[in-house]
Amino acid sequence: YALQTGDNTYVFYEKEIRENYLNNLKLETELRSALENNELSLNYQPQVQVGSRAIIASEALLRWHNKNLGQVSPGDFIPVAERTNLIIPIGNWVLEEAIRQNQKWQQLTNEPLGVAVNLSPVQFKKSDLPKIIKELLEKYQMPAELLEVEITEGILVENMVGTGSQLEQIKALGVKVAIDDFGTGYSSLKYLQNLNFDKLKIDREFIKDYPENDSGSIAKTILNLAAQLELHVIAEGVETHEQFLFLKENNCHEIQGYYFSKPLSVKDFEILITEQNQVD
Ligand code: C2E
Ligand code: MG
Ligand code: MG
Ligand code: MG
Repeated sequence: YALQTGDNTYVFYEKEIRENYLNNLKLETELRSALENNELSLNYQPQVQVGSRAIIASEALLRWHNKNLGQVSPGDFIPVAERTNLIIPIGNWVLEEAIRQNQKWQQLTNEPLGVAVNLSPVQFKKSDLPKIIKELLEKYQMPAELLEVEITEGILVENMVGTGSQLEQIKALGVKVAIDDFGTGYSSLKYLQNLNFDKLKIDREFIKDYPENDSGSIAKTILNLAAQLELHVIAEGVETHEQFLFLKENNCHEIQGYYFSKPLSVKDFEILITEQNQVD
């Protein structure tokens, strides 16, 4: 412990805690006005069908550029947004922006294009999420099956009253539900039976070391499990051709990752889907 090893260590920890606290406070202050100052934007990362290599959807990923802090990564500001409940208005903005944008893109593509949106457990604290989604789909005339929500296993562990029923209501609209970062959470497999999800998203953790330090055994196990349960599977964080081939051989349906494309600005994503259409 710091206290036992002497003053210097103790002072060091105290300083670190204080700096962390001040940093978070600064983030929080700036985040409060991020929405009204138009500092938020979405990047879109292609989700690609393994067999055809066609882009069939994208994942909307939040970006924040602040005049004082510069570019702040979601890994740093999402936890602050969750702790302060700011993720509720921000999450609603993400939903509307992704749906609005995706509907505009339908004119550019031959095949219908889907969009995946990350949802925080905090957004389920209020019970109006299904209603908000329903109204946005109506407002932008988006077919419900083109929207996918990504939730993590944690949502079910935290076991907030009503989360399950809200998910059922969202599913009943025709919206797809994917489990993000699958395999990294603490929940039991039983929830896969109780709530019928559409898709598992294999976490990058089980892809990134293939084939150097990993034989892909966990990824294979997840793919087998999904086949048994008749769930769709997408692998995230696919960076190399070898990883792509491995996933293809093991009947993974879709991939997402730098191998195909980084998350892109609206402009760059548009260029990509326009090119794809000219090839078709
Ligand atoms: P996630 O939902 O698991 O998103 C995937 C993350 O992996 C993204 O990081 C993406 O940029 C990154 N990534 C994609 N392909 C590769 C690859 O091939 N290699 C590597 N190394 N990384 C790859 P990002 O954009 O920094 O987002 C981090 C996390 O922040 C997301 O993880 C998600 O949990 C959260 N997040 C992002 N946008 C939103 C949002 O709108 N709402 C909520 N609630 N959370 C969000
Ligand atoms: Mg995600
Ligand atoms: Mg993920
Ligand atoms: Mg992840």
